[in-house]
Amino acid sequence: MSIHKKSKHEIGIMRQAGNIVALVHAAMKEAVKEGVTTQELDELAVKIIKENKADPTFLGYHGFPATICASVNEQVVHGFPSKDVILKNGDIISIDVGATYKGFVGDSAWTYPVGEISEDKKMLLKATEEALYAGLEYMKNGERLESVAGAIEDVANKYKLGIVRQYGGHGVGREMHEDPFVFNYRTQNKLILERGMVIAIEPMLNLGCDDVEVLEDGWTVVTKDKKASGHFEHTVHVTDDGPDILTKLL
Ligand code: MG
Ligand code: MG
Repeated sequence: MSIHKKSKHEIGIMRQAGNIVALVHAAMKEAVKEGVTTQELDELAVKIIKENKADPTFLGYHGFPATICASVNEQVVHGFPSKDVILKNGDIISIDVGATYKGFVGDSAWTYPVGEISEDKKMLLKATEEALYAGLEYMKNGERLESVAGAIEDVANKYKLGIVRQYGGHGVGREMHEDPFVFNYRTQNKLILERGMVIAIEPMLNLGCDDVEVLEDGWTVVTKDKKASGHFEHTVHVTDDGPDILTKLL
């Protein structure tokens, strides 16, 4: 495992990349509504990223065909935007997006409600967001990465939610996926966090079981029991004082 710690200068660039990702999410929050297609959301994301002189990180990544991952309801991650996916009242949609600016990546996902959603789905979104911030509390110089994972696991257990096991957080830098990998549950990881590390923390929690499978398109991950899944992610810089969230508006 090799972890690339970032210089102050590099963090400055990553903050710009993160701001662009946050601009996309601010637009998504407004644009997500009944009747909108996930293709339209993708086009909006492309426009914002290009306007800010950045490149869509996901487009072409291992052959991924789009700028955002748009994952509706039981889709966990890596859903393809499509003109045939029209959002309906009561859906939830996780939008994951990356922007590369001056060679550095920002990566953030958020799950949005479409119109009026069920109480279960409300709880799922609240709990998954809570799990993200509970994990971020430990993104501090000298803390253990295991404490981040454990905090996420504890929130999932509190709400009796499934935890996706096969996917998780990761280092971010010039590459979207760098070391270390971050499970969303305890694994006896011994890694100590150090200032200058930049890591995306991204709990994926399910209303039902932990198990997921990949659809025939080779990308779209869905829950095996077809119950809804939530996904929240920030790219975060570890400092002496705690988490420095890079994927937020400047
Ligand atoms: Mg992401
Ligand atoms: Mg990520």
